[in-house]
Amino acid sequence: MFVQEKQETNVPALGLYAHVPFCSTTCDFCAFYQERPSKKAFEEFFLGLRREFERFPGDRSFSTVFIGGGTPGLLSSGQLEHLCRIIRDAGLSDGCEWTVEVAPSEISREKLDALAEGGVTRISLGVQTFSSDMMKSLGRDHKVEKVFSAYSMIREKAAFLVNLDLLFGAPGQTLDMWEFDLTTAAELEPDHLSTYCLTFEEDTAMYVRLSEGQVELDIEREAEFYEKAWTLLPQLGYPQYEVSNFSRPGRACLHNLNTWRMHEWIGYGPGASTQHKGVRRKNSANLEKWSAGMSDGKTPAYEECIEVVDRDLAGDAILFGLRMNEGVNLNDLAVRFNLSNSSLEPVRSFFGKLGAEGFMEEVAGFSVLTQDGRMRCDAIASEIPEIGDQES
Ligand code: SF4
Repeated sequence: MFVQEKQETNVPALGLYAHVPFCSTTCDFCAFYQERPSKKAFEEFFLGLRREFERFPGDRSFSTVFIGGGTPGLLSSGQLEHLCRIIRDAGLSDGCEWTVEVAPSEISREKLDALAEGGVTRISLGVQTFSSDMMKSLGRDHKVEKVFSAYSMIREKAAFLVNLDLLFGAPGQTLDMWEFDLTTAAELEPDHLSTYCLTFEEDTAMYVRLSEGQVELDIEREAEFYEKAWTLLPQLGYPQYEVSNFSRPGRACLHNLNTWRMHEWIGYGPGASTQHKGVRRKNSANLEKWSAGMSDGKTPAYEECIEVVDRDLAGDAILFGLRMNEGVNLNDLAVRFNLSNSSLEPVRSFFGKLGAEGFMEEVAGFSVLTQDGRMRCDAIASEIPEIGDQES
């Protein structure tokens, strides 16, 4: 039986995501859109951002904020103050959870002061690993010691909860090395831990090494790494609440829960995604195009812009809900998304089959994957039947 987060019932109504696309170097495994920092690029970014907030204000106060990247910590303390001011001016709810991603090599007391004074409540530190060898093989530009000094610096500020990001499945990484990373992270006593499996995306240095046979991929091992984290972290005081996320009780990331439960959020910045008022869109992942498209009278540059209806949102809430330990309550979804009982029948019967196979159980009205089910959650997700047509 998995531990459920009982206290996260007040779902935030509207999230704000701001994408800061700058990185000084490219990590070997990274296929994310990034820009090299320069005076001109920073000016373009802030100009576009101000225009985007003017053109697309929230229709109510934002309940959560997440500033991601890229490397937001690459901005100077003055630029961070500026960014925080723009976000505060957008209108935030009382007690708004506000997270910023930072890399250990970019952090300073001055920047942390600017973030704390700006209203930030959580720092997500990109640790990746406590092994120097693995750090080198990932092409990260910081040393392991830097992680410890960055963590101490963040902990000097009572304003912040702290998340540590860890990566597993790198070439040469053993289960013992992974256990060392997990226990070392837990010994630091962060509030939250995220664990991500390394993926080999095309156009990355890691993919080139893979295709040249310099490193090997062992898919079988992935399951063992997942199992290690799922077993060990709860024992160390970090119950799991999603396939890749663990937290002290009451410290789950509300912004992510809001997203996975298919509520609304507005994304600002190049490459940022939005789901708001029946539209799902992704900004152009090109600083110049995005910024120019935000000028008065111009059409915003999107990579994708589609309408989404209740049935789509319910389908995605099921997909993401199965990744969470709280699972899926089909009756609640039917009410929230105006779905008839008969339209959910194919999903109910699929869940029944998963239950008979030992991959799903019922917990207080929620359909929850068992550990065996969660281990197969990608395969299960690909088999979830479409929600049927509504009765006329
Ligand atoms: S810091 Fe993050 S976004 Fe930048 S290159 Fe590394 S993994 Fe990619």
